[in-house]
Amino acid sequence: MAPQWKIPLSDVAVDDELTNAVTAAVRSGWWSMGPRVAEFEAQFGSMTRSTHSLAVANGTAALHLSLLAVGCGPGDEVVLPSLNFVAAANTIVHTGAQPVFCDIRGSGDLNLDPADLDAAITDRTRAIVALHYAGFPCDMDAVLEIAERRKVVVIEDAAHAPGGSWRGRPCGSLGTAGCFSFFSNKNLPIGEGGMVVTDDPEVAERLRLLRSHGMTTLTWDRHRGHAHSYDVVERGFNYRLDEIRAAMGIVQLGRLSTSNAARGRLVDRYRALLHGVDGIEVPFAEMPDHAVSSNHIAVAVLPAGSDRAAVRTALTAAGVQTSVHYPPIHRFSTFASGFQRPLPVTEAVADRLLTLPLYPHLGERSVEVVAVQLRESLDRSSGAVSAVA
Ligand SMILES: *Cc1c(COP(=O)(O)O)cnc(C)c1O
Repeated sequence: MAPQWKIPLSDVAVDDELTNAVTAAVRSGWWSMGPRVAEFEAQFGSMTRSTHSLAVANGTAALHLSLLAVGCGPGDEVVLPSLNFVAAANTIVHTGAQPVFCDIRGSGDLNLDPADLDAAITDRTRAIVALHYAGFPCDMDAVLEIAERRKVVVIEDAAHAPGGSWRGRPCGSLGTAGCFSFFSNKNLPIGEGGMVVTDDPEVAERLRLLRSHGMTTLTWDRHRGHAHSYDVVERGFNYRLDEIRAAMGIVQLGRLSTSNAARGRLVDRYRALLHGVDGIEVPFAEMPDHAVSSNHIAVAVLPAGSDRAAVRTALTAAGVQTSVHYPPIHRFSTFASGFQRPLPVTEAVADRLLTLPLYPHLGERSVEVVAVQLRESLDRSSGAVSAVA
């Protein structure tokens, strides 16, 4: 039986505005990509200040299409941090290219290390996939400088980062393409969904074609009598979003800045309760003023040598759900073989990462409960006598 979580890792808020939007989309009688998708794209594009925004089936599809649209294929290498969700690595492989992993900066900054990124680039590197871990923008000054000097393309994996920004520029809008996910536990949840944004008209055109089988017209165009036939000019996919989820997306986008702010307050609370206490580190304590985080997840780095499994078991027993973002990709069996660069910082930090519950309507009281439980479980698993009353 599944444990009964007192405090789940993630949760969605449901209300009438959301269900009414879904009902209206269903009642409209047009369910596949149409006017609500177009509206969602337009609103998302104005939030990211991008010329082109294309809604897609999920964040993985956004990454896959972006890699293809910038020309990744067999013989190419694509550099990305190993401390990452597996989606980017899988989609790089699906283009025929080879993922090459780079290291992170440290336990205080879990984003890619620009010096190691630079070192990982070879003559075969076509692109960098830059993750904004937990919604904290990675050092985009360095990434863009390296990309320009080494003549490689930047794709942002902004799955964690809608609403985040770097020097006032929205995350996802700094590279050639920015990829977002609207999975249920993300900052803009709609179930399954994603978005690609770009300012490059040629990339946008390839994205548009590849999203829908390389067909030159859409069902919606033909339904409206705007077209009668089509040609197929690329070997594409069906990576479209539907009207029902676009309707949810429009509502959720309207709430993004409020819900990101709520996440930020809760992460601050975790930081105040945990950072520097009992050897716990809450990363991204010292971000530059020009980096705005969307605070997607709340991550703690446990003291070196602590028994994370025991800590997680104790938290589970207390009804607190936790997770790990992420088991590094280079350790997964399908990625472990073949050429690998040493990743000493990732190796040193990976087994100490612990993701704590976070969602906009999580109460501050719950954050306090989690913090107390975490400290008690650390004391117990380290064999020390509990000092917490
Ligand atoms: C969620 C996520 C993805 C994939 O998005 P899906 O919508 O689940 O396909 C890609 N990268 C990162 C960093 C993610 O967190």
